Amino acid sequence: MTTLWTIGDLIAATHGRPIGSMPAGITGISIDSRSISPGEVFFAIKGDRVDGHDFASLAFANGAALLVVSEGKLPALGRLTAPMLVVHDVLQALVDLGCAARDRSAAKVIAVTGSVGKTTTKEMLRHALSACGSVHASAASFNNHWGVPLTLARMPETTAYGVFEIGMNHPDEIRPLVKMVRPHVALVTTIAAAHLGNFASLDEIAMAKAEIFEGLVPGGHALLNRDNEQFGVLEQAARAAGVEHIHSFGTDPRAEFRLLDFVADQGSNVLWASVGGQTLEIPMGAPGRHIAENALAVLGAAHLVGADIEKVMNALATMQPEKGRGRRYRLAIDGGYFTLIDESYNANPASMRAAIALLRDTVPGEGGRRIAVLGDMLEMGEFSAKVHAELATPLAEAEIEDVWIGGAEMVALREALSDAAGVEYRPDADGVQELVLQALRPGDVVVVKSSKSTGFSRIVAALLDKY
Ligand code: ATP
Ligand code: MG
Repeated sequence: MTTLWTIGDLIAATHGRPIGSMPAGITGISIDSRSISPGEVFFAIKGDRVDGHDFASLAFANGAALLVVSEGKLPALGRLTAPMLVVHDVLQALVDLGCAARDRSAAKVIAVTGSVGKTTTKEMLRHALSACGSVHASAASFNNHWGVPLTLARMPETTAYGVFEIGMNHPDEIRPLVKMVRPHVALVTTIAAAHLGNFASLDEIAMAKAEIFEGLVPGGHALLNRDNEQFGVLEQAARAAGVEHIHSFGTDPRAEFRLLDFVADQGSNVLWASVGGQTLEIPMGAPGRHIAENALAVLGAAHLVGADIEKVMNALATMQPEKGRGRRYRLAIDGGYFTLIDESYNANPASMRAAIALLRDTVPGEGGRRIAVLGDMLEMGEFSAKVHAELATPLAEAEIEDVWIGGAEMVALREALSDAAGVEYRPDADGVQELVLQALRPGDVVVVKSSKSTGFSRIVAALLDKY
């Protein structure tokens, strides 16, 4: 394994006090004793629910080469014989190491925020830029006060492109994170209703996301969604933050990186785009108009960091949808097949609409139906009933008749659809699962979508298990 940090650089960055016999260097960084690999350093971070110090000995038993622990916890770790770096505050030590990683790096850095599509866009950038050079990107949705410094600290010195997801639930969360990341490009995917419970309006959400401009390197670029209603708010905020280079993507004719057309047929998705004065025709590996829209953001960001656009285009053609975010399965049933679209990772009004469009654009097999299996969108606060009921409109426009829904919030959609045939309501995910497992037929296309903690991902697991 290659060395990620020499012990000298690790000590210099974290200001740690060494105890025991130090390794020459470490090969990786972990904050989870269950998934640590031999040779890695374990940072004993204190989270909301657990304190890493309680797992320090387990991390050592699992192969940790070094533990970073806090001074105050030393007495409790008394009998541990592991090599340790003792610091005042473990999270701060991780932040300091992250900043050191950024300081030593010559990578072109892209930061991605937005209400929806951060991980999807980040993974698209990872895939596309990998065709141009070495890429280091956030794992999963590691986008918060520990996820961002962890991702930074893990960035190898030779990385050519760094892609960082940055998220927030409240104002003032993005600012300190983006100041660690110091991106060349700050990309805001879209502003939409998510975590509405914590904000009074979409403009307020936009202002919190706009903190991302405050960490741009001098001469850095803001990249904004021209189709989004909050474009103006973001543009103004970018200007107020002193950003000179403000760019946009989208279908709007004023967009600099523009989606000219998108055609979805069974099995093939092609977009036409205008990028850097060139018109491009791009076959897409992953289906969905929202993926095509994200692709414009990817092309824009890639252009702004000087990547080879032809290589990026070719990579987009081979991209596959992420697990829980549009991944497709063709499963045998009763002598035929049905198609499962797994959108169960999460849901809010914008991504629900994207999933409904995905279903609309997927042609069922002979005798099959288009079935939307939908669960609650959580964290919608006082707007919850309204945003659930409003899903009736895109469902009707997409002519989706089979709507199988479950959860307390979905009562509002059941009421809005009370005149429609084909609507089935169950109180919870288990009820919907029972229905799905007994009612599917050959030719069906079924999309499963819901907020994370509703249990709807179990429906996907049950289908994959049974078929
Ligand atoms: P989180 O805040 O949970 O990290 P995220 O912003 O990273 O979310 P993703 O995980 O990328 O978002 O996507 C969430 C859902 O939104 C997925 O179902 C995905 O398919 C869908 N999605 C991705 N891009 C878009 C888009 N541009 N518009 C609408 N929906 C999208
Ligand atoms: Mg995410």
